[in-house]
Amino acid sequence: MFLTISTTGDEQHPATDLGFLLYKHPDNPFSTKLSYGTAHVLYPEADARRCTAALLLEVDAVALVRKGKGKGRGGAPDAALAQYVNDRPYAASSLLAVALSGVFSSAMKGVCRARPDLPGQARPLRVEVPALPARGGPELVRRLFEPLGWTVTAEPVPLDTEFPEWGASRYVRLALDSTALTVAEALRHLYVLLPVLDDAKHYWVSSDEVDKLLRAGEGWLPGHPEQKLITSRYLSRRWSLTRQATERLELVRLAEADDSEVETIDNAVEAETGTEEKPAPLAEQRRDAILTALTRSGAARVLDLGCGQGQLVQRLLKDPAFTEIVGVDVSVRALTIAARRLKLDRMGERQASRVTLLQGSLAYTDRRLAGYDAAVLSEVVEHLDLPRLPALEYAVFGAARPRTVVVTTPNVEYNVRWESLPAGHVRHGDHRFEWTRAQFRAWAEEVAGRHGYTVAYEPVGPDDPEVGPPTQMAVFTLTVAKEAKAA
Ligand code: SAH
Repeated sequence: MFLTISTTGDEQHPATDLGFLLYKHPDNPFSTKLSYGTAHVLYPEADARRCTAALLLEVDAVALVRKGKGKGRGGAPDAALAQYVNDRPYAASSLLAVALSGVFSSAMKGVCRARPDLPGQARPLRVEVPALPARGGPELVRRLFEPLGWTVTAEPVPLDTEFPEWGASRYVRLALDSTALTVAEALRHLYVLLPVLDDAKHYWVSSDEVDKLLRAGEGWLPGHPEQKLITSRYLSRRWSLTRQATERLELVRLAEADDSEVETIDNAVEAETGTEEKPAPLAEQRRDAILTALTRSGAARVLDLGCGQGQLVQRLLKDPAFTEIVGVDVSVRALTIAARRLKLDRMGERQASRVTLLQGSLAYTDRRLAGYDAAVLSEVVEHLDLPRLPALEYAVFGAARPRTVVVTTPNVEYNVRWESLPAGHVRHGDHRFEWTRAQFRAWAEEVAGRHGYTVAYEPVGPDDPEVGPPTQMAVFTLTVAKEAKAA
């Protein structure tokens, strides 16, 4: 197996910086014994204009098989090897990936002690693998690498050049070009995607593989259009591991989805409405409307579900009528920001006893949420994939069952009033859907009917005669009959 990484440069940014990044000096060929063979790093060319590092892996098939057989159930320490032994003599790409991480481990982490300025810099890169086993062919190769910023050349390698009629082999000749990526990113893409393309059956021994995948996938795997395929193939279709990885990736994605964008767009709308008296930002109007609904319901103990960075919790704390306020969010990062905003660590004891922040997912029933007077879902439902919405519905209306539930969500009809929003776009990159007034009401009626609530609607923000308000709000109230029945 053979792989090259090349870069170009000039006198100021010499291509030979690649040697610093890879921790391998262009003048000194490097070899290291791995448990299944030998890895060599050499530089076929190295000057200021062009520098190429080649990683050559000589696989010792005998050692591979012998060591593979030697691994008993008791667990020989040589896990690196045991994991890759399988029904084929060996999974070449996986070995190459393991060699990459072994030989270029600092480079993969983006560490460069000698030149700390280098790892963060994107540079022109070309990666070539003359013979890459690729199940799914050139088409899949493109689907995997192109979203990451690579220009992909993938040509099928004929089974036998003398007999073209035999067709293509399962190998492609791969070349990747980019000017937008760092060496560390390039190595982490290869570390994950080469074995994914090989798709050999490995017998992974532990869930360490999930950690490795998430570590190498940091910054690019969450949100990759082929995330599912990558995860499933990388984890050899062991679905329990795959599910574990998928759930953790979902958490990462949610933690990264910042709601600041919501406020930015809200503020842009306000700027565009251009009334003389500057109206409060929409987010503030929303909190006003929620507070009014909660006060009207007489609630004292309130859940803010999907509380984000804690703006509503902060607002509720100012009103002594609310004796207990619980903010719940799946994102640890959002909760950390909320805790900082509320100055939880410097709060007096009395005040602190009124507020709790909980990490949890609304897609699961959670006993901690039972027994409250009211729950708020402010701009949250649209962050869930539609198929997960029934799970949230059950967790809130079926299990937690507060007397009052206040739900707000964008009204998609209003989007045409926003000049800054291109037609057909949602307001936030993380919104899975945005509803018309009719769609929201249809959903709300069904939920209310199923769980014994009545529902009333209120506009939030300017109620446009044609397209309605920018935010729609539903206030659900548990009906006494059902409450008695449930009790
Ligand atoms: N309620 C806040 C934040 C809205 S942004 C406001 O009105 O400004 C949506 C929030 O829902 C994010 O903080 C996100 O982390 C959270 N969220 C999304 N899916 C969730 C889930 N399944 N469980 C809990 N919180 C979730």
